[in-house]
Amino acid sequence: MNISVKTASHTYEVVIGHHILAQAFANYKQLFDKADQIIVLTDKHVWQAQEKYFTESSFFAFKTFIMPAGESCKSFANYEAVQTFLLEQQCTRKSLIIAFGGGAVGDLTGFVAATYMRGIPFIQVPTTILAHDSAVGGKTAINHTLGKNMIGAFYQPQAVLYDTALLASLPKREVLSGMAEVIKHAMIADTQWLEEILQGNVTQLPQELLAQYLALGVRVKANIVEQDETEQSVRKYLNLGHTYGHALEAAAGYGRLAHGEAVMIGLVYCLLLSERYGQITRNFTKRFLHFAVANGYPFTAVNDYSFDELTTYLVKDKKAEYGDLQFVLLKAIGEPFVQKIELAVCQEVDKELRSLLA
Ligand code: NAD
Ligand code: ZN
Repeated sequence: MNISVKTASHTYEVVIGHHILAQAFANYKQLFDKADQIIVLTDKHVWQAQEKYFTESSFFAFKTFIMPAGESCKSFANYEAVQTFLLEQQCTRKSLIIAFGGGAVGDLTGFVAATYMRGIPFIQVPTTILAHDSAVGGKTAINHTLGKNMIGAFYQPQAVLYDTALLASLPKREVLSGMAEVIKHAMIADTQWLEEILQGNVTQLPQELLAQYLALGVRVKANIVEQDETEQSVRKYLNLGHTYGHALEAAAGYGRLAHGEAVMIGLVYCLLLSERYGQITRNFTKRFLHFAVANGYPFTAVNDYSFDELTTYLVKDKKAEYGDLQFVLLKAIGEPFVQKIELAVCQEVDKELRSLLA
């Protein structure tokens, strides 16, 4: 399945399917042939689990740089180490970089590609469910000690080659984390799709259905990014669940709650807030919460932090993203909007969430 993403800089394809990597590489032969060198940036877990599959799928020669796994690959130290490696290998503007990993590897690689010699081409080969979101849309970044994703660039890949066979080695927790972003895309865009998801178990989706959901998620994201590449308007909708989610993620210390785990809690928080502004009912919120808990999302994490502790991060998120305390809410499923919310209301809703969880 191919999905086109049209942006101001260029149009590229997201190719999705099971066991498609070798064929997809072959279809992009021209891109590989014209590169003077091909560098694969990956992390140690991904390479350990998928080196054989990657190597067997590729027809071209490449050099590999293996990074620490997870958020630590988005550090300044690792960014510098990668740039040093590229310089030592005498990479030029004609070299091609492949991001082989989850969102962390993709974000780091995109930023490396955007800045090495003022920009060289790169391809995303995502290996997580979450990366159906992060690999599309051109946001690249590394972390600063004062904030996550604070240093970055908008920089689009040449292609995204998404082989769902790579997801077989993904730990269950990462499946849950990634599915939260799939669910977010369904909530933003499609009542029927969300209803279908709510009937099932997100960690036991048949392979074909998972590929279909990832393609639907990519379509939602691509559609929004095409309208608003640099987040001036509708791209904000993709932050559904992320304001409260980011606060929890930051309070926990990045890495302790997986991104999607925090986002899932943030989605329930947004449903509760949305009840005040549209057609979302308390019954629906409870049904959604029941689904999320039954699927194994760690809602008890909320009890580890007081609202006051979360406030520090809520306010920080506000400064970073909006210049005011604003949330993406839903008038109904498929109808997102941005709403200014007073801190006192945030606190009331935080209380509602905690009492629902009690
Ligand atoms: P990740 O890249 O850290 O991967 C999660 C863990 O799974 C890591 O330990 C990794 O080594 C391991 N892993 C990945 N693929 C595997 C596989 N196939 N088999 C076995 N292990 C595997 O995390 P993620 O959840 O994919 O992405 C999170 C990152 O994405 C965050 O840094 C977040 O800021 C970023 N993000 C970016 C965007 C964007 O638009 N750029 C959007 C959402 C999230
Ligand atoms: Zn997210």
